[in-house]
Formats: sequence, structure tokens, C-alpha cells
Amino acid sequence: MEMRVSMLALPDNSFEDRSSVALLIDDSAAMQKLLSLRLRNDGLDVISAMSGEEGVRAAQEHLPSVILLDLGMPGMDGFEVLRTLKDNEATLHIPVIMLSGVHNSHDKVTAFDLGAVDFITKPFDVTELRVRVRSALRVSYLMQMLSQRAQIDGLTGLYNRAHFDHRWAEEVAAVHRHKRPLTIAMLDLDHFKSVNDTFGHPAGDAVIQGLARIIRRECRQTDVACRYGGEEVVLIMPETVPADAAAVCERIRIALADVVWPKHPERSVTCSIGVVGTEGTATAEPLAWLELADKNLYRAKREGRNRAVTSALENGIKLAQVG
Ligand SMILES: [Mg+2]
Repeated sequence: MEMRVSMLALPDNSFEDRSSVALLIDDSAAMQKLLSLRLRNDGLDVISAMSGEEGVRAAQEHLPSVILLDLGMPGMDGFEVLRTLKDNEATLHIPVIMLSGVHNSHDKVTAFDLGAVDFITKPFDVTELRVRVRSALRVSYLMQMLSQRAQIDGLTGLYNRAHFDHRWAEEVAAVHRHKRPLTIAMLDLDHFKSVNDTFGHPAGDAVIQGLARIIRRECRQTDVACRYGGEEVVLIMPETVPADAAAVCERIRIALADVVWPKHPERSVTCSIGVVGTEGTATAEPLAWLELADKNLYRAKREGRNRAVTSALENGIKLAQVG
């Protein structure tokens, strides 16, 4: 049951398995007929637009996966269409392949400068065009995935601090509105600096990764695990009362203490955990709530480490009672 939690939901399959929509903007009926037939054979849904104006409207309405855009059209030409698409937030990221009847390197430079991903001169080999369309789709898919992944911590695969900051504010706001349970847990590795100092940073990184693996295994699907700092992980546990959250944390604490580390089998690693939550009856500002979790974490450290300290938000300070 690895990877149940904390990884962003990436598409189940590669883009080849999903139905992609191509928008074909070209004033030539013959070109429309040829390309839509060949691209449909490739598993693409094809939308046709016979003019630049129509093409811009269709792009905004359908948000296609890729656009094939003729340069030479009466009225709004390909460059104008391309500029319009790149000026609009909604259509800005759609890959555009320019089609031109003229071999002209100046046109090519202009097209790429305006943000086209490819430039194909007519007459072209249809097989080559299909390959180029697939290539544009693949790059676009990878770009999307990377921008999603920007919220993922590179070492652990958990969410990063940036994700935590906005997600935590959202979850606290939801408690304000709906009086739902919510619990947060802060985990900190005990004496982590000495692991780094004694066994080296690669060993320290392996410990952090090991902790992340345990968290993924022990957390529920709805828990949001974020790497908060160097050796600190925060768990946002929506719809979870403090006692249930404490049970999850206890599983994590015990599992971590039991690990035999390949780089230092004689040295076990433990963590301390601060837990604060509500059944939905109390709330606090996001930062004040976090401070309470931190306070519990340091109480766990003071009381001997390798333990969790849990409290209900009602018993905390700086509370703003609901209702
Ligand atoms: Mg034309």
C-alpha cells in the first residue's frame, strides 16, 4: 500500500491513453479533410475552424490539447491568431504547431518568437506531422506534470512547505465554516543532527526518506503530509479528531523506532510528535494553531523524546470560540 498518501494525483496513464483534442485552424477545405481524417485515425478528436476568428473562439471554448494553425489565411492570419492565443490566460499554454505554404525562415523565427512549438511547411509528409503532433502533446503533458510537481519535496516525495502553507489555511477556514474535525501533527526526528554528524548527510537523507515511507504507509488517504523543514514533517488530518490522529501518529512513531538502518544498524532513530486538533467546536488562527502543535512537540522533547503529546484545541491558548 505504498504511495497512498501525499503524492499528487498524477494521471493514471500516459497522454497516449487519454483522448486528446486537436483544433485545426485552416481556411483550406482540402487540408481540413486530409488532416482531420489522419489525426482521427491517430485517436485524436479533431475540431475544425475555417478562419482565424473562428479558431480563436473554438480555442477558448474547447481548450484543445494542441492547435494546428495555418499561417496564410484571409482576415485574421496565423500570427494574429497566435498572438491572441498567447495573450489569453486560458489558451496561453496550449501548444501551437504552425503550418505554412511558404518556405520562409523569417516566418519561422517570428512563429517561434510568438510561442509556437513547431513549424511545418506544406506540402508535408503526413506521417511526420502525426509524429510532431504527438511530440507536442508529450512535451505539453510533461510541462503540466512538472508544474504540479513544483509543490512536491524533492527528497521525500511528500508535499513541500509552499503546499502546506496554502493547504493549512484552507483547512482551517473549512473548520470555521463547517465546524468539522481537524487535527494537525508536527513530527521532528530526535537528535537528527548527530545522525548527520556521525554517519554523514547521505545517511541523514536516508533517514528522512525512511520516515516519509513510513508516513505514506501509515497515513490515511485524506491525510496531507508535508515536509515542513529539514527533519520536520507536518501532517494535516482533515475530518479527524485528536484521539484518532494520535493513534496514527503512534503507529508512525513505533514503526520508525523499529527500523534497522542499513548505514547504521546499531543506531535507531526516533521522533517526537506534537498533536493538536478539534472535534469542530473550537478554532484558532492557522498560525496560533501551529504554535500549539509546536508547543506540544517541544513538551514531547522535554519529557524524553520518542513520544507524542496530544491536546484538544479547546484547551489551548488564543482560541476564538465558534458560534
Ligand atoms: Mg491557408
